[in-house]
Amino acid sequence: MTTVTPVHVAASAYAQEGAGSRVSAVISVGERRFPVVVKSASRRIRPLLNRGDAWLPIALIPAMRENLALVLTDPVSPRLLASLPAIQRTLAAWYPDLSIVPVTAPRGRVSGRRGADATFQFFTGGVDSFFSLLNHRAEIGALVYVHGYDVPLLHSEHRRRVSESLSGAARQLTTPVIELESNARTLLDHYGDWGDHTHGAALASIGLMLGAEASRVILPATHTLADLDPWGSHPLLDPLWSTESTSIVHDGVETSRFAKIAALAGDPVVAHHLRVCWNTTTELNCSNCEKCLRTMTAFEILGQLAGLSTFRGPLEVARLADFPPTNDNELAFTIDNRDAARLADREDITSVLDPIIESYLAAPPERPPFTPWLSQRPPEL
Ligand SMILES: [Zn+2]
Repeated sequence: MTTVTPVHVAASAYAQEGAGSRVSAVISVGERRFPVVVKSASRRIRPLLNRGDAWLPIALIPAMRENLALVLTDPVSPRLLASLPAIQRTLAAWYPDLSIVPVTAPRGRVSGRRGADATFQFFTGGVDSFFSLLNHRAEIGALVYVHGYDVPLLHSEHRRRVSESLSGAARQLTTPVIELESNARTLLDHYGDWGDHTHGAALASIGLMLGAEASRVILPATHTLADLDPWGSHPLLDPLWSTESTSIVHDGVETSRFAKIAALAGDPVVAHHLRVCWNTTTELNCSNCEKCLRTMTAFEILGQLAGLSTFRGPLEVARLADFPPTNDNELAFTIDNRDAARLADREDITSVLDPIIESYLAAPPERPPFTPWLSQRPPEL
């Protein structure tokens, strides 16, 4: 009889490094070993009561992808363990290539003492981030940004640029920003697509890692309740990562992307710090990709594009035809802009968006199968 090697998460190691702190654990998937490290420059990472909580979200998707049992060494919160069947059933229903797998971990303790009563919010400088921040500003004790998630760790110059912009925005909004660094994508990108499968779990993992300081961590929503296609961060999924001491809150699901942009338009901090682009390493926004152009379109409809200093205008409306939606997520944003353009009598915009929406609806593309995207080897953390 052959023994199948499971996905295994070794015991966490916490360390203080100068003014900072770090936590690491080796995650093995079959015979492959991934030393996953998260660092904080300001000693924000402190040992958890149940140290397995921080690793379970990022170890689960590799196990489900490979159809291997998941075994954790450190204890996991009873509430999180109890949520696992719902988490796995949701993911497996959305993505038939993910399997429901057995998970084994020591059952954690529930602290009798009340923990830190603070709310943190994930913040990348994008529309969803700014919308949640401006809506909850009085509650938010700190913003959280993770280097190595949307910007690869190797892109040090771009990381510096992003970091400066985030700190500038946070300073003007008098909210501190916690910058962390993680190499978790060197594991996750082998086993899931960042948008479809892994980014919500990766953020939940960080939220729980900060559990010694935060009782609530807000994860800004991508989509509205009207457009709930499968997506790595989702109102059905994100709250299920919560523990007894830290709630993961999916925020902003009632508001469309255009309505969020309308709420932000005219805000001077947004005008100088908005960053939506994943397609550049030389400036905050390339002003040339699908995401940049659709964001610029919304500001153009609102008559506010000229006020944005992080985009290069004017908008060439005809270029929108170069980026027809490729999936239901992009379709929802395209329809959102088209409907707003119609209300604003911008026929120049509707005449470009209507045909690409009609083409998509006439023949919706199949969701492509997952193929591993291997990030460049990161610097040692
Ligand atoms: Zn762009």
